[in-house]
Amino acid sequence: MVAAVASLPDGDVVLATRDEPSRKVARSVRLVLGPERLGLLHVETPVTAWAVMLAGLVSGGLTASSARAVADVVLARITTRALVSSVASLESPTPTFRQHAGSLLPRTAFVVDPGRGTVGRFHERLGIPSGGDMLVVASSPKPVVADTTDLLPRPADVELVGAKPDWHATRWFEASTIDGPLSWAVASAASGAHRWTACEVCGRAAFGTCIFCDIALRPARAGLAPHARLPDQHQPEHQGVIS
Ligand SMILES: [Zn+2]
Repeated sequence: MVAAVASLPDGDVVLATRDEPSRKVARSVRLVLGPERLGLLHVETPVTAWAVMLAGLVSGGLTASSARAVADVVLARITTRALVSSVASLESPTPTFRQHAGSLLPRTAFVVDPGRGTVGRFHERLGIPSGGDMLVVASSPKPVVADTTDLLPRPADVELVGAKPDWHATRWFEASTIDGPLSWAVASAASGAHRWTACEVCGRAAFGTCIFCDIALRPARAGLAPHARLPDQHQPEHQGVIS
């Protein structure tokens, strides 16, 4: 990983992670290479939502330091549902005792809504809204239910192969979509740049936390400091992903 990042051309690099082992790898890469051009974005979210978020992050014209703000706005507009064969080992959201016991019966299936933190019995549809700009799915090799024709409102745009499941079930299916065009969500995040502050250490403009220096930023009061980097300045940037 160190060699892969070091071989990238000059410019800021963002390592995006979604689980602790990957986060540790990303941190050690930054320990070796230094924080000057290496930002760490850690977001614990279902893998299909993560894929939609990454698609937003690689949109043109964004600075690497805007990754946290863009990720937050894009994730807030994502709907994720998981169809699982069992909730017996599910820790979050917490299933009811009845659902827990129901997992022991054959041919049962449950719908998990991680956004609302709910679990329910499956009745033909997952509840993924139609009209989303990007529909990403992932699944176990064996299907959860025999008839999958009505699971989704339309065919998926992207199917992730070999994705690591988050649901502690042998058979699972997960789907995520974004409300409205992905480009709108990204533009909406970038349009808030006048409220971002310049990091006191590296000078990059960001919202909330600088992903390069890992320090919290004070909210802007009267605009950005003169040396702050705005997202429309097209800084050279490369996005790296660990999964
Ligand atoms: Zn910084």
